[in-house]
Amino acid sequence: MADKSIFILGASRGIGLGLVREFLARGWHVVASERSESEALHALACDRLQIVTCDVTDPESYEKLGLADAAFDILLINAGITGARHQDATQATDTEIAEVMATNAFGPARAARTLLPTLKDGGTLAFMSSLLGSVADSSGGFDLYRTSKASLNMLAKGIAEQQADPREIAVLALHPGWVQTDMGGPNATLTIDESVTGLADVLESAGGKGFRYVDYAGKDLPF
Ligand code: NDP
Repeated sequence: MADKSIFILGASRGIGLGLVREFLARGWHVVASERSESEALHALACDRLQIVTCDVTDPESYEKLGLADAAFDILLINAGITGARHQDATQATDTEIAEVMATNAFGPARAARTLLPTLKDGGTLAFMSSLLGSVADSSGGFDLYRTSKASLNMLAKGIAEQQADPREIAVLALHPGWVQTDMGGPNATLTIDESVTGLADVLESAGGKGFRYVDYAGKDLPF
C-alpha cells in the first residue's frame, strides 16, 4: 500500500487531522494542509507525511502548493465552517453569507479545478459535505450551512458528470456523521476515530467512475 497517496485539504484538527492519522496508519503517503501551524498535525511527522499551507478561500494559496508534479490516488477537500452567527438566511449579513459560501462551496470549486490534474486515472475526488446539504432530506434550520453544502454536492455531481472516458474517476460527497470536533461539539454521536475509520474505508473502496453522496458507513444518501 506504500505507493498510495492522498491529499487532504484542511487537516489541522478535527476530522481532517483524524484522517491524516488513519491513512498514515494504513501505510499511505499523505500530503496534508494547514492554514497556520498545527501542533497536532506536526506531531505526526514521518517520512510519509508532507505538510503544506493552504487557505481554501485564497487563490494564491494554490500557486504556492508546489504539487504540480504530484499524482494522487485520492484528493479530499475537507475544509469547512459553520460560519455565520445568523444561520437564518433572512437574517444573515452579506459578510456572513460570503464567508460560508467562500469556504464551503467556492473554495472547494477552486481547489478541484486546480488539483484535478494531480489525480490519477481511476482515482477519487472527495468533498467533505454533510447530510445537512441534502435538499431531499432537509427539515429546515442552518440555512446558510445547508445552502453551502448543497452547492458543494452539486459541484461534486457536476464534476463527475463532466469526466469523460477513459479517465474514470470517482467523485464523492461525504457525510462524516455527527462527530465530536470543534464543529460537532461534545454531544455528537461519533468519536473522530469512529468517523474516520468508516470514511477511510469508503474512500479506499471508491476507485473508479461515478458520483456518490455517501456517509461514513457507506450508506447512500438522498441528494
Ligand atoms: P473543525 O471545525 O474541527 O475543523 C475544520 C477544519 O477546516 C480545520 O482544519 C480548519 O482549519 C479547516 N478550515 C476552515 N476554514 C478553512 C479555510 N478557509 N482554508 C483551509 N482550511 C480551513 O470541523 P470538523 O473536523 O468537524 O469538520 C470537517 C468537515 O466535515 C467540514 O467540512 C464540516 O463541514 C464537515 N462536517 C462535520 C460534521 C461534524 O459533526 N463535525 C458533520 C457534517 C459535516 P483551521 O484550524 O485553520 O481553522
